[in-house]
Amino acid sequence: MIGSMSNSALKFLENCVQSGQRHVTPDCLLCGAASNGAMVCAPCDADLPRIAREHCVVCALPLAGSNGNATCGACLADLPAYDHVCAAFAYAFPADALVQALKYRGQLAVAPLLGEALARVVAIDTRPDVLVAMPLSAGRLRERGFNQAQEIARHVAKTSGVPLQSNTCRRVIETPPQAALPYKERAKNVRNAFVCDANFDGKHVAIVDDVMTTGATLNELAKKIKRTGAARVTGLVATRTLPYGDLPARSTHD
Ligand SMILES: [Zn+2]
Ligand SMILES: [Zn+2]
Repeated sequence: MIGSMSNSALKFLENCVQSGQRHVTPDCLLCGAASNGAMVCAPCDADLPRIAREHCVVCALPLAGSNGNATCGACLADLPAYDHVCAAFAYAFPADALVQALKYRGQLAVAPLLGEALARVVAIDTRPDVLVAMPLSAGRLRERGFNQAQEIARHVAKTSGVPLQSNTCRRVIETPPQAALPYKERAKNVRNAFVCDANFDGKHVAIVDDVMTTGATLNELAKKIKRTGAARVTGLVATRTLPYGDLPARSTHD
């Protein structure tokens, strides 16, 4: 996998190793250049793959001519339990490298960057009443030592002022990782994976997660949250997987 990474991603990983678990780095997280205290320098920030303005209001997939106000055919045909998805970035380089560094290499310094990007999305969108992080099963939490969604959600809460409610939604069934399954199997894989003890009566609840692909996991948790009386459920995802042809073009500054 390292072989397919660009120089700036490798440099980023080196920086992470050098900085250990530091939460604040003086230099750009991606290329190591001076960044005036910002987590990424201006050129790297410009390289981060944003979601196209024209996207489905429900699932956030590109939808030509929608201007962010229309619903795609797939969502109309089978309306998900979540009402709306806001994604900070497309799951493409270098945002994918950031998520992987957080999730698989425990680079917690990435969490504030993703959390603050999501908080900016919250600020221009309908503000939720409460945040919940996509839960990990107890087994996976033990294995990884932290929940990447919880780490991102903490920073969304800190920056946006929307409270984060922890421990009311739990993942009770250990399932094979979604990434290992074909798309069609994913909904079946996560069925009844969650329980939710909260009372979200009339509330707008936002579920924070690191990556959304088919939305099967988000949909399953949204169903449970709606059953507790929530009026609205938004998916706040740091990155959204896009179909290959819809990936944003990348400018290269290196
Ligand atoms: Zn940079
Ligand atoms: Zn859609």
